[in-house]
Amino acid sequence: MTGKASIILKTGRDKPVRHRHPWIFSGGIGRIDGTPTPGDIVRVLAADGKFLAYGYFNPHSQISLRLLSWDEREAINDDWWITAVDRAVSRRSGLLSSTDTNSCRLVYSEADGLPGLIVDRYADFLVCQFLTAGIERARGVIVDALWNKLQPIGILDLGDNDIRKVEGLPESGGALRGDAPSGSVIVHENGFRYAVDLHAGQKTGFYLDQRLNRIRVAAHAPGRRVLDCFCYAGGFTIPVLAASPRDITCVDSSATALALLEKNVELLVADHPELSLGPLELLCANVFEALRKFRDQGRQFDMVILDPPKLAASQAQVAKAMRAYKDLNLLAMKLLTPGGILATFSCSGSVSRAAFQETVAWAATDAKRRVQVVDQLSQGEDHPVLTSFPESEYLKGLICHVD
Ligand code: SAH
Repeated sequence: MTGKASIILKTGRDKPVRHRHPWIFSGGIGRIDGTPTPGDIVRVLAADGKFLAYGYFNPHSQISLRLLSWDEREAINDDWWITAVDRAVSRRSGLLSSTDTNSCRLVYSEADGLPGLIVDRYADFLVCQFLTAGIERARGVIVDALWNKLQPIGILDLGDNDIRKVEGLPESGGALRGDAPSGSVIVHENGFRYAVDLHAGQKTGFYLDQRLNRIRVAAHAPGRRVLDCFCYAGGFTIPVLAASPRDITCVDSSATALALLEKNVELLVADHPELSLGPLELLCANVFEALRKFRDQGRQFDMVILDPPKLAASQAQVAKAMRAYKDLNLLAMKLLTPGGILATFSCSGSVSRAAFQETVAWAATDAKRRVQVVDQLSQGEDHPVLTSFPESEYLKGLICHVD
């Protein structure tokens, strides 16, 4: 049987576990039988001694237990990890066989039953993050399973070292198997080519969660003067450019991201020589300041895209983040011509969809504009939302008509 040590929860702390929420905080633990070390698989029992689940333990983390299986007969061994990886990857078979997209998330941590593990595919490369002590233990078997199933050119480790530090893990990174790409990797998304930097890029290289939204947003671009805020490497810019806007202005504070964007525009032009691109303006600036400057200059746009980074990293930052979302959306609405389009996003997990929409409503009131939501957007299907783990839903988007 798996799990030598047993962790007995405090009275009344078993309910979320029975509802299959995969986290147990340190405060829920009543007693530990045995001496489990960080990353060990343990049995989790209710206060009355009844079996609840298997999980892995880490006393260094506030989330001291992350649960893996609620079936006492299951053994968490190599076969278990291989099956779990296999299941996550097989669920993406439709995306994996797509001819116009060759990059997507293959394993989305808790939402795929593999807490602490992120695996993204970028063409012939896989990028992994092992974020907890428990998943670190299974690193070898997981890498083997991915290698055998997908036969990539290389599997890279992109340890998010801040998170690993909290878990008491050493820094990590580099090629785990096969070869690392020598430069940027060219991926296909929605039929467009993008250069992705797997070494120095943001996230694991690209914002894969916005794949479906890029098409929905670009559909509104024809003939419009577009402002793409927080454009990064042009995830939205490229499909918008292909949709023949009147012109487009892209703002990001990262010069590296803008350099990638320029490369991606070159790829678009090479693939679509028939496109006659309108003016493209790239601005390396703080969006909050740029929006104010545009307002003071009296500049107007017919469409604004707002895709800021996570403004609330935790519950404690929600109030401040809400003010920032309100500020951004208010400024954007003021720049929009009547009948303009606002495509606005929040990727803060701690900000609910309802709260986000409320913020947009406040901004509309203050801007004295009538705002209609015409499309509600979320994360792509390769970032599934696990119903027993609402935290897995984080990306919210609204496409609005602003009168
Ligand atoms: N829209 C992009 C992803 C945006 S991620 C896509 O579809 O791929 C957020 C981006 O905001 C990053 O590129 C980051 O460099 C940039 N950023 C963060 N804070 C910023 C700020 N205050 N002003 C301008 N850009 C900022």
